[in-house]
Amino acid sequence: MSALPQRALAEDLENVETQKEYLEYSKTVHDYSPAVKKLIDLVNNYVPDAEKAYAKGAKAIWTGGYRWEPTFLYGLGIIPVSYTEMGRYGFREDMLIAEDYYQFPVETCSMVKCTVGQWHKRLNTGAINRILGSSSSCEPFNLAWEVMREKGYDVFTNEAIYRGPNVQGERLEELVHFMEEQLLDIAEWATGERKVDDGKLRSELVRKNRLIGKLKTILQLRLKHPFYVKTLPIILIANVGFNNYYGKPLEFEAAIDELILEMENEPINQEDLKRVIPLVWAGGTGQEFGVYEAIDLAGGALLGLRDIPYKLVREDIPALEALVRYHYDNGRAGAGIYTRHIIEAEVERLNAKGIIFYGYIGCSFASVDREMWRRYFHERNIPCLNLEGSFQTGQPSGQVLTRVRAFVEMLDANRSRQ
Ligand code: SF4
Repeated sequence: MSALPQRALAEDLENVETQKEYLEYSKTVHDYSPAVKKLIDLVNNYVPDAEKAYAKGAKAIWTGGYRWEPTFLYGLGIIPVSYTEMGRYGFREDMLIAEDYYQFPVETCSMVKCTVGQWHKRLNTGAINRILGSSSSCEPFNLAWEVMREKGYDVFTNEAIYRGPNVQGERLEELVHFMEEQLLDIAEWATGERKVDDGKLRSELVRKNRLIGKLKTILQLRLKHPFYVKTLPIILIANVGFNNYYGKPLEFEAAIDELILEMENEPINQEDLKRVIPLVWAGGTGQEFGVYEAIDLAGGALLGLRDIPYKLVREDIPALEALVRYHYDNGRAGAGIYTRHIIEAEVERLNAKGIIFYGYIGCSFASVDREMWRRYFHERNIPCLNLEGSFQTGQPSGQVLTRVRAFVEMLDANRSRQ
């Protein structure tokens, strides 16, 4: 693996500001890996290419990019375009549109304001005009969808799909039936027919299972090559790509296959294994990409991630039911305790030295979860760093970077003392 010297990287980094620039910078850092560079290009081009495909006649809908939504829309023959991926095209002015024009309170989550600003700029331009809003967790987004509906977007919001702690048995079966009905409503809105093609959705579920297997292979290979795919691309590939394939499932899978081959053929570097500080990232995909670079430069490696799909989808039952049960069986279906189990399993799997929690300023919903998790893991003597950041582009604040560096250095010092 030929990589630029660390000092040269740090100097280059001083000139990097926007998310697009971080991604270009990351391509130079991964000069040795054609596969990583292809994956970064897929990240960078996701939204613009989906918009171009839409302009040429493909069906595309703005949607959340992580849970059941992308798989379901692919199964309907529609490109899911993740609105949470619009952050990298956003600027301060998008936030101001939300605050000044739409009168969103200043303290509203920056992700929501940035997305509203981006949608506003696309009004009456012939851009993708349908939004699938899933009202499971976020009140500010509920407001954003209503505002966009008034402005002329075709918005569909389903009822909250939430599984409380310890929900099992008959109550779980009721929830399964409820969500199936919700998905049929969405199918009717999106395609004009209140039905789902079992064969098409099933082939998406099979693809998902196949890719989850490949993701697990990459995670295992990262234990041998912790720095081959650095923090920024791994979080984007694992958290984002494995959920929505950046709108291009075939190209995404081909790049993943190439990455696995590269990593399998890479000689193991014993020095890397000695110096790596294994960390678990227990937050959303923060848009302040400088945080990830700070982790790399301090010698940390995010070997565990909270948001990636670990379980397989059942293939022995009707596809719609399988997708619903998969949703209720995974961390993002509801109560924070399900997610805590995932974090805990990752800490144990990796013998992780610390956990980084990351959330957005203004998100009261996620900050409660984070505080509960932090207390839980502190009681078990696992060091945690709780970060709050902004969604808008630009460099993270010096304070955030200082905290990341100090945390990783503290873990390194702890290890030396052991
Ligand atoms: S970070 Fe919180 S407030 Fe912001 S969009 Fe996500 S759930 Fe909503």
